[in-house]
Amino acid sequence: MTRMTSFSDGTIVPVLGQGTWMIGDDPRTRDAEQQALSRGLDLGLTLIDTAEMYGNGKSERLVGEVIQGRRDEVFLVSKILPEHAGEMTMMLHAEKSLERLGVDRIDLYLLHWESRFPLEEIVAGFEELIDEGMIARWGVSNFDTRAMNRLNEIEGGEQCAANQVLYHLGSRGVEFDLLSWQQEHLQPMMAYSPLGRGGLLDHPALLAVADRHDATPAQIALAAVLRQDGLIAIPKASSVAHVEANAAALEIELDAEDIEVLDRAFPPPTAAQPLDTL
Ligand code: NDP
Repeated sequence: MTRMTSFSDGTIVPVLGQGTWMIGDDPRTRDAEQQALSRGLDLGLTLIDTAEMYGNGKSERLVGEVIQGRRDEVFLVSKILPEHAGEMTMMLHAEKSLERLGVDRIDLYLLHWESRFPLEEIVAGFEELIDEGMIARWGVSNFDTRAMNRLNEIEGGEQCAANQVLYHLGSRGVEFDLLSWQQEHLQPMMAYSPLGRGGLLDHPALLAVADRHDATPAQIALAAVLRQDGLIAIPKASSVAHVEANAAALEIELDAEDIEVLDRAFPPPTAAQPLDTL
């Protein structure tokens, strides 16, 4: 079963995608990583998240190999480094990403985090890439609510399609106001590190809830994040077994008792908090 969400332009994507940070770095694990991503595509996890930064382009190259012959199935997300997002450099770096990915268009191109270049200049650059047909839409990453408001107020800023931020059970600050901001503006929140980079997974509360569902702690961590509307989670998995487990997490429905256990262990925010980032 694949659950879907949509961008404000009506484009539909699966709520569960695949992350690729640290994928493609090590030649010894490349085959397994490719198989994992391909299996994810078979299972409907067709949104793939990468970035020019990951392995200095190695992740984009590996993604390019995986999607060869399957481009039409995939919703491709990549990111530009803030220091490359000025008007003199943005197009060059977008071209390099396209080349590594082996495609002529990126579906969603994100500013990886806030830049010293003015937002006006960055938005104009993104719009130019759209005009050139190099990207279909643009968005941001690691923007807090204040930064989203700032972006929304400048000309063209409301065209932002999504904001990718850290969100997992151990880091729930975005639930205070950023998540609702994104929902109201029909700009999906992309949850990065939804498994807490693996660090959450031996928590007793997760183990207890996992037991109730005959599931794994990772699956419960994902199911907890995926309860939110307008959210896309992008776990990274480098084995077929992990990808299959993650896809199966879409079937898990947490009940009130599960939520109570998780909320006690990982309390939701009661006040605004600075945005967590990696
Ligand atoms: P995740 O929270 O996705 O955790 C990845 C870890 O969880 C890996 O060790 C992985 O192991 C393990 N794992 C995956 N599936 C399972 C499973 N079913 N059972 C047990 N363990 C599992 O961390 P990431 O930081 O990688 O975040 C995901 C993606 O988000 C990144 O890959 C990247 O695309 C994006 N990201 C974006 C950032 C930004 O600034 N915009 C910052 C950080 C990440 P294994 O590899 O062995 O499968």
